[in-house]
Amino acid sequence: MSKLKAHKTICSYCGVGCGILVNQDSNKKISVEGDPDYPVNKGMLCSKGMNLNYVAQETSDRILYPEMRWSKNHPMQRVSWDDAFTRAASVFKSIIDKHGSDSVGFYVSGQCLTEEYYLVNKLTKGFLGTNNIDTNSRLCMSSAVVGYKKSLGDDMVPISYEDIELADTFFIAGANPAWCHPILFRRLEKHKQENPNVKIVVVDPRKTQTSSIADLHLQINPGTDVVLYNAIARRLFEKNRIDKQFVQKNTIGIEELKELVYKTSYRDAAKICGVDASDIKKAANYIGRANAFINMWTMGLNQSVIGVDKNVSLINLSLITGHIGKPGSGPFSLTGQPNAMGGREVGGMANLLAAHKNLLNEQDRNEVANFWGSKPISPKPGLTATEMFDALDNGKLKAIWIICTNPVVSLPDAKKVERALEKANFVVVQDISHNSETTKYADLLLPAAGWIEKEGTMTNSERRISYLPKVIDAPGEALPDAEILWKFAQKMNFQGFEYENTSEVYDEHCALTKGTNMDISGLSHKRLIEEGSFQWPVPHETHPGTPRLFEDKIFQTSDQKAHINTPVNILNKSEKTSKELPLILTTGRIRDQWHTRTKTGKVNRLTTHIPSPLLEMNVIDAMERNIKEGDIVEIKNKRGTVKVKVKLNFDIKEGVVFLPMHWGKIRGNDFGRANNLTNNLIDPVSKEPDYKYSAVQVSKHKKE
Ligand code: SF4
Repeated sequence: MSKLKAHKTICSYCGVGCGILVNQDSNKKISVEGDPDYPVNKGMLCSKGMNLNYVAQETSDRILYPEMRWSKNHPMQRVSWDDAFTRAASVFKSIIDKHGSDSVGFYVSGQCLTEEYYLVNKLTKGFLGTNNIDTNSRLCMSSAVVGYKKSLGDDMVPISYEDIELADTFFIAGANPAWCHPILFRRLEKHKQENPNVKIVVVDPRKTQTSSIADLHLQINPGTDVVLYNAIARRLFEKNRIDKQFVQKNTIGIEELKELVYKTSYRDAAKICGVDASDIKKAANYIGRANAFINMWTMGLNQSVIGVDKNVSLINLSLITGHIGKPGSGPFSLTGQPNAMGGREVGGMANLLAAHKNLLNEQDRNEVANFWGSKPISPKPGLTATEMFDALDNGKLKAIWIICTNPVVSLPDAKKVERALEKANFVVVQDISHNSETTKYADLLLPAAGWIEKEGTMTNSERRISYLPKVIDAPGEALPDAEILWKFAQKMNFQGFEYENTSEVYDEHCALTKGTNMDISGLSHKRLIEEGSFQWPVPHETHPGTPRLFEDKIFQTSDQKAHINTPVNILNKSEKTSKELPLILTTGRIRDQWHTRTKTGKVNRLTTHIPSPLLEMNVIDAMERNIKEGDIVEIKNKRGTVKVKVKLNFDIKEGVVFLPMHWGKIRGNDFGRANNLTNNLIDPVSKEPDYKYSAVQVSKHKKE
């Protein structure tokens, strides 16, 4: 069957943001291929991206029309959109009248398009009168946001993917891009193959596909990153590998850092980290000799009770060596979700304001409120992801509206999340399919249009804004998320939501950025469609976009200097292991699954790589417990139990076990839901959960 027309769009999975051509034949069958002209992936796609056509066409599990129940004891019933909006508006109004604006909240997703993120923030912060709008991006990159702000003055990723091919030294910490950012990894792998001088250091308690190409793998004890980075910094000081001119002219804080790092000997650092002191020195020597150095990180650093300290300590290595604002150099936080960056741009978190403005600054709040024509914006940061569910649990939050995310599987301490949703007075779930375990808690279920069923924009990890067109109609009565939000706002009688299409929302967002660090006032919707993707800032209409930031060495801090921060916590503050709970559970992703499997779980091809959840465990730890390869084991702690098959190897450090985060309940049983076990600790500043460190015991499952 002949192809009709190829639509250029962007992959809906990870923050790499690959370009995809969507083809539809005359039978309306969809196929996808990598866009050869898109600068990110140049035609390549990973296993998840190349199977997106199956997800796009599979409608058997889709939510097709709004459903509602009148009370918790009543069954869900089909209702019209008008009835759904009327109910939502009347419940939100009555709860706000009775308990105040802070008794309601929105919990959204890094998979929302920028326009959707913009609208839900405008609605919540400007018109509902609360900053209780947070996102599942809190779970993956909020520590990096704070790290960038503390070090560079604003949440600005300094580099581009094209810097990968210009660098000669990489330090990859707490990340497995081979599985989680596969196309970036392929670029890195190819670069190393073509340039044998390229050095790669990987820091991870597990051997991974990423560490397989490393010149040096530092298999550290979980939670010891700050000690490691400080020890590397010490070596750089000792070997006179500091860029003194850059540091003197463009930074503050070096003396305090120097004083701190000299307090710990290499021997002590090596002992704490569980690596050889000679390897710490080797890593420092690679960095010290680099002509162009990139450090890359993601969840391994961010998802920690000291995530901000880990971030600033790692960024310090770029700053003291002067590797920022020049080709092939810079601290590069990889974002997990396709539009976590877009969410950051529109202030899509409880402590942020649109267009990188400052929620704590009165002038900024007034500017945004005036622009929106809204009531004054509260200076009080709202509830963050885990705080929102704590507040539902303790009754302070009465109603929650959940968009495009599945907190019952993805948030830590899953049993608490279930209890919180059961206690909530009113739960709205807006999603595409019944596959999400969260939908069963809904009092109002709203069908949303999915990828290629709606238009909008996204921003990838390198600040690249791209347009995603609508290609096919959504099934049933599903509506684009943006339309659902503006129709709800209209039902609430809020002025300023009289949109007819998402391009109007986009242009409004652009106008608000004028004069800010992320000015995209030169990138109209029309220009974006006609000329393709751009990296922000794009401050005027002939501006070509900005692949690399800080080339002028002017940072966004009040003194315009980069800040070398002395970390507050050097040692980890996670829960302690004990005789009863001696193992450290760390959770993460596998290659072919995405988040809670609501999409990838439907694609047979993606279930062949790792078909079911497996606990990865060191052979020595298994022998001590009489556990053999393939046994079913019970992982336990005070929060819950998970039964799962075990996979033994020497790839994971002794004393550490790894469980993928993707699986929820399987046929009603807690077979592999990792978040039954994860803890409630969060970084005190970024409020990101401590997913990488929970104390557990593992034993062989005894059949009853
Ligand atoms: Fe999609 Fe990420 Fe794979 Fe690219 S690397 S195809 S964006 S999942």
